[in-house]
Amino acid sequence: MSDATTDPQRMEKIVSLCKRRGFIFQSSEIYGGLNGSWDYGPLGVELKRNLKDYWWRKMVHERDDIVGMDGSILMNRAVWRASGHEETFTDPMVDCRTCKARLRADQIPEKEGRKICPNCGGRDLTEPRSFNLMFKTYVGATEDENAITYLRPETAQSIFVQFKNVLDTARKKLPFGIAQIGKAFRNEINPRNFTFRSREFEQMELEYFCRPEQGMELLESWKEERLKFYEDIGIPRDKLHVLTVPDADRAFYSKGTYDIEYQFPFGVQELEGVAYRTDYDLTQHQKASGKPLEYFDEETKQKFIPHVVEPSAGVDRTVLALLCEAYDEDTAPDEKGKQESRIVLRFHPRMAPIKCAVFPLLKNKEPLVAKAREVVALLRPHMHVFYDEGGAIGRRYRRQDEIGTPFGVTIDFDTLGEKGDELKDTVTLRHRDSMKQERVKISDLPQILIAKIS
Ligand code: ATP
Repeated sequence: MSDATTDPQRMEKIVSLCKRRGFIFQSSEIYGGLNGSWDYGPLGVELKRNLKDYWWRKMVHERDDIVGMDGSILMNRAVWRASGHEETFTDPMVDCRTCKARLRADQIPEKEGRKICPNCGGRDLTEPRSFNLMFKTYVGATEDENAITYLRPETAQSIFVQFKNVLDTARKKLPFGIAQIGKAFRNEINPRNFTFRSREFEQMELEYFCRPEQGMELLESWKEERLKFYEDIGIPRDKLHVLTVPDADRAFYSKGTYDIEYQFPFGVQELEGVAYRTDYDLTQHQKASGKPLEYFDEETKQKFIPHVVEPSAGVDRTVLALLCEAYDEDTAPDEKGKQESRIVLRFHPRMAPIKCAVFPLLKNKEPLVAKAREVVALLRPHMHVFYDEGGAIGRRYRRQDEIGTPFGVTIDFDTLGEKGDELKDTVTLRHRDSMKQERVKISDLPQILIAKIS
């Protein structure tokens, strides 16, 4: 479906670039793929890592009040009973009796007031039924009822069930948070929009524990904090939308939820949920496990179950937003000065998979190559650097533009001192977006580039 707010053609170009340049591949592609699963290639894995590292830096390392953890994907089934996932983590589903497609009941289009199958146009649809989104599996050698558990559908629950251990060991006072990045699995009925809705994905979640009276205020401040994060990674505020989730669509225990949405080429869709979950999760686990999960306030001598505000973001959805935001087409001069079209990924330097490409002007001139190798060695401890000696320099620039490398450094005869000492040990630093070039000293390069990528 295409309307004023969607641009399927742009999306197609992005998907094709992702495959062509090694950002994202279909999982098990040589066997026909597996619906809802994706592999990140050499550039995709760098982009994803930069995003996760920056989130961790902002959420954990730059704060006194948040610590991290890394929980296991498999947990005791009792966790999923207590959290309510076993009972209610479902989507309504209908089947098309004509083409046998299985569809999400809330995503079925209507024609002349009647629901129709988006797959074949048929009108013979079943009544909606609940479908649990958790992947069921067996732990150990016997496949019986007692061995059942699930692949976690969110990372949050391991934070709740480890709340006491973290509290006792990290010695934090309220308000404080526990952050986690990790895989989650949901057997989505209709995976779609490239990696946007996958069956295996990664989440970046924070559970920020507080006193009951702080909950609503913290919900607001976390929403703002998270909006700022997206701006810091290159997603402008005017492409973000905050949806106040209406009462009817909110989990019954939540006192307020915002969805932070991004204007993807396929429509405005959720990147992250920021929810005030009250004391629901800890209370459920305290009840079901029989273990106290309370907090003791030394000053007031009160004992209570903390409330929690949860900003929960998707790694894959944010990576996709970064790619969609970065994709651009413009023109650049070729070797002879003639304008030609170029594809450029305008990533924020902080997120770019490769920060700097280093080019000896000619590959068959040993002193140029040796100098270029020296520059690579100088920069490598600080950033991901790519060395490229093949082809005309313009073409080498173009290849880097297409994968979003913000800086290019060219080593030429001036660098070797052939025009005198003044230019010796200086290089051309080229900027991806403006295509401007400047002459800088090799010894200044690390400092100039580090300031831009950190
Ligand atoms: P949706 O309504 O799109 O299914 P949700 O509201 O169920 O998402 P949450 O349970 O709030 O999602 O999960 C938190 C975050 O995890 C989401 O904002 C999203 O970024 C990410 N996420 C959830 N489901 C998927 C999925 N199937 N594929 C990729 N990311 C996902």
